[in-house]
Amino acid sequence: METIQTFTSELSILEISYLVASVLFILGLKKLSHPATARSGNLWAAAGMGAAILFTILFHQKDGQPIGNVIWIVVALAIGSFMGWYASIKVKMTAMPQMVSIFNGMGGACAALISMMEFPKMQDHLAQTGAAHMLGGEGIAILLGLMIGGVSFAGSMIAFGKLDGRIGDFKHPILRIINLTFLVGLFVALVLILFMKPEAGNNLPIYLFAVAALIYGVTFVMPIGGADMPVVISLLNSFTGVAAAMGGFLYGNQAMLTGGILVGSSGTILTILMCRAMNRSLLNVIIGAFGVAGAAGTEDGDKTVKEISLSDAAVLLSYSQKIFIVPGYGLAVAQAQHLCHELDNLLASKGVEVKYAIHPVAGRMPGHMNVLLAEADVPYEKLVEMEDANNEMSNTDVVIVIGANDVVNPAAEDDPSSPIYGMPIIKALDAKNVIVMKRSMAAGYAAIPNNLFYHQKNRMLFGDAKATLQKLVAEIKSL
Ligand code: NDP
Repeated sequence: METIQTFTSELSILEISYLVASVLFILGLKKLSHPATARSGNLWAAAGMGAAILFTILFHQKDGQPIGNVIWIVVALAIGSFMGWYASIKVKMTAMPQMVSIFNGMGGACAALISMMEFPKMQDHLAQTGAAHMLGGEGIAILLGLMIGGVSFAGSMIAFGKLDGRIGDFKHPILRIINLTFLVGLFVALVLILFMKPEAGNNLPIYLFAVAALIYGVTFVMPIGGADMPVVISLLNSFTGVAAAMGGFLYGNQAMLTGGILVGSSGTILTILMCRAMNRSLLNVIIGAFGVAGAAGTEDGDKTVKEISLSDAAVLLSYSQKIFIVPGYGLAVAQAQHLCHELDNLLASKGVEVKYAIHPVAGRMPGHMNVLLAEADVPYEKLVEMEDANNEMSNTDVVIVIGANDVVNPAAEDDPSSPIYGMPIIKALDAKNVIVMKRSMAAGYAAIPNNLFYHQKNRMLFGDAKATLQKLVAEIKSL
């Protein structure tokens, strides 16, 4: 009687801890949706994950036995936590997608390894009971976990290589056929394995299945343009979530199940939102050639570019009433966010109203500009979303574009042949004056020319964003 009571109370503690962990995941995710609460949201979700791990180690039981190998688990946790912590403090903001990609790949690998470990056990057990096949919830979860986790791991590693410039794009029409064949083949193999007669020790089919999933992960990501990797990473991230959910289903672990489902669904939503913000379909990202050098776009060789001197820029800004700063990828590369805030404060002290126009895909990851500016303590109220900023453009004296390019490219509105045609942009040209700060006339992510640079209203302030802002601030102070 006493044993049963202890067992019941421990089980309920575990269940309650999973419920609390799941609630923390959801609240954490909710808090992540606003820059002001994002940091605490991360901590809440991490606390949920920590609690789920701790309570599983303390209270999980199988056949009335507590969890074994605790020392190994703790050592592995310590090594993994140290590596994660070290990578996070060392990573540059602009290399964040690479890190997300590696972490995501590790999640996929874990899910695949769980399946590799559990399949032989399941098969041996079914063979002992004399079952005719392996069809059932457990078998499906194991095989889907292996397939999705394997694809996510291999794909994420290729994505990391591409983002880091270590692997180039490999586009060939034959890859589409290979990919389709592999995809269909994987599903056929999954069904065949499920209907196989269980035979103790017969693990060759699952090994071959794992190898096929890994190869598909490589061939799936290989042809996708390097510049499209952020969307692909978000997609692979959702795959990892689904694979982890399979593990949760397999072990009856509600925290793992909820966590996996949340990652899977939020990754899917993020993928859709990124595609929408770029006005592209997911299919187009996967098989398209956006970002390939030499993409469509017009450039008129006769056009001239006007430059503005630092002193003229300082005077123009100081005597303006209202200014919008449009931050972009180059601001992040130059790490000029603190100087940007200094310029903003300086102008505000002269009575100029300064706001930031935030494009949803500026930079190289969703929310990149919000995170960057938050790091420099720019108040959130100053960050205006694209649509609202566009509504205010006509009564804006100067738009300063700092290291942005595609997100202010008018070709998105007036050149149907442009690869970015249809993408919503920040309408800098609706303001009275535009100043673009960048190092050269080079194109941005989409590798297309930008006619804004040649427009009457625009003047270029060439140079590295950080160095230019430093000089500009000094110039304004000396006025
Ligand atoms: P872009 O990539 O279009 O342009 C950035 C510009 O910054 C370049 O033209 C470059 O010009 C300039 N630059 C680079 N380094 C510096 C520096 N040190 N100082 C000053 N300028 C610099 O960036 P945007 O932010 O305008 O657009 C983002 C692009 O990324 C969009 O096409 C978007 O679709 C894409 N994208 C964004 C994702 C996201 O989630 N945010 C995801 C996927 C894609 P120069 O070399 O002349 O200095």
